[in-house]
Amino acid sequence: MVVSSATIDSLLKEKEQYPPSAAFRKKALTKDDALGRDAAKDPEAFWARMAKDFTWIAPWSKVLEWTPPFAKWFVGGRLNVSVNCLDRHLAGPRRNKAAIVWEGEPGDRRVLTYHDLWREVNRFANVLKGLGVKRGDRVTIYLPMIPELPVALLACARIGAIHSVIFGGFSARAIRDRMEDAESHLIITADGGNRRGAVLPLKKIVDEAIADLDLVQHVVVFRRAGLDVPMREGRDHWWHELMAEALPVCEPEAMEATDPLFILYTSGTTGKPKGIQHSTGGYLVGVATTTKYVFDLKDEDLYWCTADIGWVTGHSYIVYGPLANGATVFMYEGAPDWPEPDRFWRMVEEYQITILYTAPTAIRAFMRWGDEFPKRHDLSSLRLLGTVGEPINPEAWRWYQKTIGGGRCPIVDTWWQTETGMILITPLPGVTTTKPGSATRPFPGIEAEVVDENGLPVPSNKGGYLVIRKPWPAMLQTLYHDPERYQKVYWSQVAGKYFTGDGARVDEDGYFWLMGRIDDVINVAGHRIGTMEVESALVSHEKVAEAAVVGKPHPIKGQSLVAYVVLKRGHTRSDGLTKDLQKHVREVIGPIAVPDDLYITEKLPKTRSGKIMRRVIRSLVSGQEIGDTTTLEDPGAVDEVRKWLAEVQGTGS
Ligand code: ATP
Ligand code: MG
Repeated sequence: MVVSSATIDSLLKEKEQYPPSAAFRKKALTKDDALGRDAAKDPEAFWARMAKDFTWIAPWSKVLEWTPPFAKWFVGGRLNVSVNCLDRHLAGPRRNKAAIVWEGEPGDRRVLTYHDLWREVNRFANVLKGLGVKRGDRVTIYLPMIPELPVALLACARIGAIHSVIFGGFSARAIRDRMEDAESHLIITADGGNRRGAVLPLKKIVDEAIADLDLVQHVVVFRRAGLDVPMREGRDHWWHELMAEALPVCEPEAMEATDPLFILYTSGTTGKPKGIQHSTGGYLVGVATTTKYVFDLKDEDLYWCTADIGWVTGHSYIVYGPLANGATVFMYEGAPDWPEPDRFWRMVEEYQITILYTAPTAIRAFMRWGDEFPKRHDLSSLRLLGTVGEPINPEAWRWYQKTIGGGRCPIVDTWWQTETGMILITPLPGVTTTKPGSATRPFPGIEAEVVDENGLPVPSNKGGYLVIRKPWPAMLQTLYHDPERYQKVYWSQVAGKYFTGDGARVDEDGYFWLMGRIDDVINVAGHRIGTMEVESALVSHEKVAEAAVVGKPHPIKGQSLVAYVVLKRGHTRSDGLTKDLQKHVREVIGPIAVPDDLYITEKLPKTRSGKIMRRVIRSLVSGQEIGDTTTLEDPGAVDEVRKWLAEVQGTGS
C-alpha cells in the first residue's frame, strides 16, 4: 500500500446528530441556508452587504484587491473601529444599555453602559495622545481581565495606534521580546491582577522586562490590586492621575480600511512567536458578522466568552465583534475554580448569562471536577454554547451539551486561528445539524478544502491538510515586518491557498472534522494517525478526563504511541486500568491505535492558553533535545515538561 505523506488515516467515526430544536430555530436570526447560498454566488458582494451595516467615514471603491498572498479589503474605505463599537450605539436605545458587566475574582462588580465605555475610551485616548502616541505607533498592553483592558484597546483604535496585547500570564522575557519586535515605546499595565486567590504582580514583571530596554518611554499603571509598586519618575504614570486631567472628548482618527488595527503574537506552541497583523475594515466586518450569526446574538443576550483578551478569541469575540453588535458582554477576572469549582456556574445563574463560549480544555477540567458543581446551580438561562481552541472530543461535547446545556442549547464548535482573525468553520445554530466533534461547515463566503501534498482534494473521509481557497475579510495582512516569513509559512506549502497547518477530513455530508496539527500526526506502521482521534477514544472511557498522545521512535513500526492520561476525580491508577484503557482504544478505533505506553498522571503540561504542549512532550520522549529554546515563547516551559515527564515516567505505566 502506498501511503501519501499528506493524508491521514481517519479511524474514529462519530454517528450522532443533533438538529437545532424547533424552539431555538423559531427565534434564530437565520433559519435556512439563504446566507450561505447568497455568499457562494458572489462572496465579495456578500461581504460588501455585511459591511454596509457599519459607519464608514468614506466608502470603499473596491471590495477586494487580491495580489497573492496579500489581500486588501474595502480599499479606499475609511472608518474608525471605536466609532463602530461605541459612538454608533449612542444615538439609539443602546446608549444606556450595559456594554460590559464585570466581576472581579474577589467578587467586586462593575457595569459600564455604552455611554460610560465611550467616556472612558475618549479620555484614555487623550491620555495616550498626551504621552505622545501617534497614529501607527505600537502600544503594548499587559493587563488583567478588567474593563480597562477593552478601554485600552478601543482607545488605541480611536487614535489609530496599533495595539499589541500580551497575555497577563506571560513572563518578563515574553514582554521584552514582543516590545522589541514591535518597537513599542509605551506599555499599559496594572499593579497586579487576581488569580486563584493570589495577586499576580504585573508591574513588577514589567519592570523586570524593560529594565534595560531603552526604547520604553512610558508605563501607564492601573491600580487594581492595591500593591505597593515603585514608580519611576518621568517614565511611570498612574492611570487614574492621567485620566483625571484628560479632556473628555477625543475626535476619532479616520483610518484606511487597510491600516493595521493590531498585532498579536501567537502563543508559540509551534516555535518562535509570530506577530500576526490584522487590518481595520476587513477585520471589523469579519468579526462582527461572524459574532452576529454564529452566536445568534440579540440585544437581550448576556454573552460570555471566557477567553482572556490576551488571545485572539478575546480580541475578536469579547471586544470587537460583540461591541460592534451593541451586545452586553460579561467579563470575569479570575480562575474558574476559585474559590470553588462552581464559580462559572454560580455566575451563569446569578447574572442569567445566555450565551457561553469557552474552550475544550476548560470543559474537560469541569468534567474532571465532577457534575456536582454545575448541578448546584440553575443554568436554565443558557441558550447557546460555543467552543474554540482545540478539537473537542465527542465525549466532552456530549457532556457540555447535556450537563451545561441541559440538552437544550445548540453547540457551536468554531474552528479558526489567530491568523484567520474570525471564525471560519462553524455551525450556524438555527440551521446546522451538529455532530459531536465536528466544526461542521465553512461560514458563508468561506471556501475551505482538505488536500494532499500536491494541493489536490482528498476523497471524503480521508484526512489531509486543511486549506482555505480564497481570502476572507479578517484574514491576517502579514507577519509584522516579516512579509517573507508570512509568504513562507502560509502560502508556500500549497500553491495559491492559505495553509492552516491543521489536519482535517470532510465526511460524506461535507462536514469538517479537525484532526489536530499536521506536526502532531504520528506514523505508525505506515498509518498516519492524528493524535486527536486516539485522545478522543481515551476520553470516551468513563474514568478518563483528559489525554495527550505523542509518538516516539520505534524500531519496527517507525513510531509508536505514548499516551498520558488524566483521570476524573475519584478514580485511581492501577495496572488493571491501564490494560482496560488499551482495550478500550482497541475497541473504539482498532489495534493500530493502541498506545504501547500509557501513563496515568495528575495533569498535562499546557501552554499559557491552555493547549496541550505535544510538541515539547514529543521531542523530549523521543530523546531529542529541544534545539534552540530561545525560539520558544517560554523557554521555562521545556523545563516544566521535562520535570513533569520525569515524575510521570517515574511512576511506571
Ligand atoms: P501557535 O500558532 O503559536 O502554535 P496556536 O495555533 O495554538 O499557537 P491559535 O491561533 O490560538 O494559536 O490557535 C489556532 C489553532 O487551534 C488551530 O490552528 C487549531 O489547531 C486549533 N483550533 C482552534 N479551534 C479549533 C476547533 N474548533 N477545532 C479544532 N481545532 C481548533
Ligand atoms: Mg497556530
